[in-house]
Amino acid sequence: MVSNEQTITCHFCFETFEIDLGIDQNFSGHNTEIFDCEVCCNPNKIDTEIYDGEVNSLTVSDGNE
Ligand SMILES: [Zn+2]
Repeated sequence: MVSNEQTITCHFCFETFEIDLGIDQNFSGHNTEIFDCEVCCNPNKIDTEIYDGEVNSLTVSDGNE
């Protein structure tokens, strides 16, 4: 496991906070995880496309759905 920190903007309050995806160094594929906002505590659904442990794209959406 490598630390893979990303700064995201909350879907609800638009504050930024850091998340640690904790993805494997050699992982390639799609990852979906819920992170609660550090500011407003609402659930943000984080969709990432990962290639060789590097985040290629990251989408933040409503984790309540
Ligand atoms: Zn928030």
